[in-house]
Amino acid sequence: MNTQVLLKVDKLSRRFGGLIAVNELSFYVNKNEILGLIGPNGAGKSTTFNVVSGFFKPSSGTLNFNGQDITGFKSDRVSRLGLVRTFQHDSMLRDMTVYDNIVIGTFSSIKHKAERDARVRETAELMGLIEVLDNVAGSLPHGLQRLVSIAIAFAARPKLLCLDEPLTGLNQTEVVSVLEIFHRMRQEYGISILLVEHNMKAVMEICDRIVVLDHGEFLATGTPEQVQSNPNVISAYLGK
Ligand code: ADP
Ligand code: MG
Repeated sequence: MNTQVLLKVDKLSRRFGGLIAVNELSFYVNKNEILGLIGPNGAGKSTTFNVVSGFFKPSSGTLNFNGQDITGFKSDRVSRLGLVRTFQHDSMLRDMTVYDNIVIGTFSSIKHKAERDARVRETAELMGLIEVLDNVAGSLPHGLQRLVSIAIAFAARPKLLCLDEPLTGLNQTEVVSVLEIFHRMRQEYGISILLVEHNMKAVMEICDRIVVLDHGEFLATGTPEQVQSNPNVISAYLGK
């Protein structure tokens, strides 16, 4: 396999009873790449995330991550290998402080308290959460809660960060600063990103490459320019 490839998804399918949510989907994410995964509602994007991150078992197909076959691995094992995801809806312990939420993201992999504290602070620094570390997560405004969700995932210092609609509900200023954070994660930490997002302007701006899904199937791939001018993509998705 090409050593540039970090995640390889091969003929992945996932059924729910009679419904085929994802059908023979193949794509890859390169090291240091920001790959967009787009498509209309119900296209199978979140299901793809759930299968790739080990929350659901695939019905068929294979997953290779960082040179290792991870097909059928459970989520905790997948995340320990460096593939970490966020959820479409914020997931955090709402009654706990931002600090303690970020600690959870380190998987207790850091035994020394001082080292763990440094990891939490460095994470909060990059995410712009330093000033709210002692606040209860559930009491923060929506934009900051989003950042906490992402911070929990980033605290693990994954090789691949899978983000499910991270920009939903953010205002334009917040979107700009979150995109800047994604750039820094890649540049300063070598993190690759798989991004599911409906904000097309943001997707086109930040992604190196895009994969388009429709009805659970691969529809198209290419650079943002190529995808935007692809007639099949326009009629299935962008034109709507
Ligand atoms: P997207 O994230 O692209 O909007 P999803 O992956 O959430 O799409 O959904 C794809 C299809 O799979 C939809 O028809 C959805 O109703 C179905 N689906 C997703 N998760 C489940 C589930 N846990 N049980 C049954 N059907 C599901
Ligand atoms: Mg979804």
